[in-house]
Amino acid sequence: MFRLAYVLTDLPLVVDEPVDIAVDDFCKLCQLCTRACPPGAIFGEKQWVRGELKWYVDFDKCVPYFNENMGCGICLAVCPYSQPGVAEGLVTKMLRRRERVKSPEDLDGSKHDAAEKIADFAD
Ligand code: SF4
Ligand code: SF4
Repeated sequence: MFRLAYVLTDLPLVVDEPVDIAVDDFCKLCQLCTRACPPGAIFGEKQWVRGELKWYVDFDKCVPYFNENMGCGICLAVCPYSQPGVAEGLVTKMLRRRERVKSPEDLDGSKHDAAEKIADFAD
């Protein structure tokens, strides 16, 4: 079980820019969390949220399911990035693949199913 949490700090943190590690490319073709979420709370495409285009979880769907079942975390459990030792290799391969791929259609999820594509990156 995982618990929703947040951290408060008064550390003097420096605001910097996001670092692109090609996670978006992988999420577009993976979608395991979207398909596994019982109440269908995870959108399969980025949504505009308060002026930002971002991956979005509908907490009006997630939280009731989470509370009824005294926890959930299915989305975290199925995510390939949650598997120990996998994330670094996925990032390296996705960045290499981005350099090779000429057509955006190669990354749009239409040619093969997600399991096939993930297996492609998991070796
Ligand atoms: S915690 Fe459960 S209900 Fe909430 S988004 Fe993840 S899979 Fe869906
Ligand atoms: S399971 Fe993980 S890698 Fe796959 S779409 Fe969801 S967040 Fe992205």
